[in-house]
Amino acid sequence: MIKIKAIGGYSKIGKNMTAIYIDDEIVITDMGADMEKLVELQDENVNVSTKDKELLIERGVIPDDIDFFEKNRNKVKAIVITHGHLDHIWAVPFLASKYNCPVIATPFTIKVIEHLMSDFNVRYNRIIKLNTGTKYKISDNLVVELVNITHSIPNSSMIAIHTKYGVIMYANDWKLDNTPTLGSPPDYRRMNELRKEGIFALISDSTRVDRDGYCFSESIVKSMLEDVITRNQENRTIFVTTFASHIARLRNINQTARHLRRSVFIFGRSMDMYINAAVSSGIISRDTLPKVITRREDINRALRLVRENPSKYLIICTGHQGEKDSFLDKLSSGAYNYKLSSEDGIIFSSETIPTPVNIANKMALLKKLEVSGARIADNVHVSGHAYKNDLRTFLKILSPKHFIPSHGGVDKISAAINVSNEFGYELNKTSHILLDGQELELL
Ligand SMILES: [Zn+2]
Repeated sequence: MIKIKAIGGYSKIGKNMTAIYIDDEIVITDMGADMEKLVELQDENVNVSTKDKELLIERGVIPDDIDFFEKNRNKVKAIVITHGHLDHIWAVPFLASKYNCPVIATPFTIKVIEHLMSDFNVRYNRIIKLNTGTKYKISDNLVVELVNITHSIPNSSMIAIHTKYGVIMYANDWKLDNTPTLGSPPDYRRMNELRKEGIFALISDSTRVDRDGYCFSESIVKSMLEDVITRNQENRTIFVTTFASHIARLRNINQTARHLRRSVFIFGRSMDMYINAAVSSGIISRDTLPKVITRREDINRALRLVRENPSKYLIICTGHQGEKDSFLDKLSSGAYNYKLSSEDGIIFSSETIPTPVNIANKMALLKKLEVSGARIADNVHVSGHAYKNDLRTFLKILSPKHFIPSHGGVDKISAAINVSNEFGYELNKTSHILLDGQELELL
């Protein structure tokens, strides 16, 4: 028997969690937060602890696994995590320990999970670091393998579950970047081998497959950033905001600044968490990026240096989604000893995640920044998610018997289904629409 239960991540972006049943055993893939709901909670200054599981489920912040847990608590053999984005891992400290099984992920992802666990005072000793390209036997019948894939965070993986019925692949999130600026290109050799072994089902990221064409490589945005940062040389101070988890991007920005003989300050707690995880898992060396500054008085001290000698510095900071309490939000509200003016360049190396809260926050921030006269450059970015042609390539390489799009909501899932029609997939026979809470029995 093979059954797939969508616990979260299928009806809208975020809160990823899937249960894959193979006879009387279950593998859970990903355990993330709905970032929009998490931001709402943080905006209300609600401090949560692991005792607040029910509240978090009720508020839609973490996946609702209550019924699933009641029925299946002893069948779950492993929780396997694809990558370190919070919409794939944030619920681990709250939900994982009750299943009494190992949590398996790549070394960088594990470091981020451990950081979250220590934030919430959770100790869990059944954590297994698994490198991409290696396998782990989770029971007499099941072997889990992590396969290297590119995305927008280091050490991303696809999960291949080897079963007597064939391979079940879970690929969420991914893009096909053949010239990444950190880490290796997708493991096409292994993907081809897995197709030959026979992929019974593929669960795949559909977040951006409604976009035509190919998702560009990170090496393209590296050039874009060099161009935009160089143009901003005429402005005195340069601020660049981007995703804290995007270590490749942070490294590229830092390198460009150094070529222009600017020293770099990095501000923000989330930057600290991801950079530490990258250093301690060996993704980058300790001297690749400067030490992150998180304390308010240290930030003010650094800004004083910037004010005295603005053309000597570039600041990498949080706030690209207009998040409340991020560095840019506070800076634009006058919370630091630094007054923005037309002498400042602010580069958003990001795109707005299309949720109502983010769109509103970002617009409010841009308005405040525009009033200050600062020179803004928005969308200096490429996505971390596959576009339509990438999905075509992916389906051709993997050629799964069953195709189940996930992540992004019904519009995005439908776009993925339309692409799969070109390859002869038939809805409800070999391609399937699954929404949160639904189950799909394939065998
Ligand atoms: Zn992701």
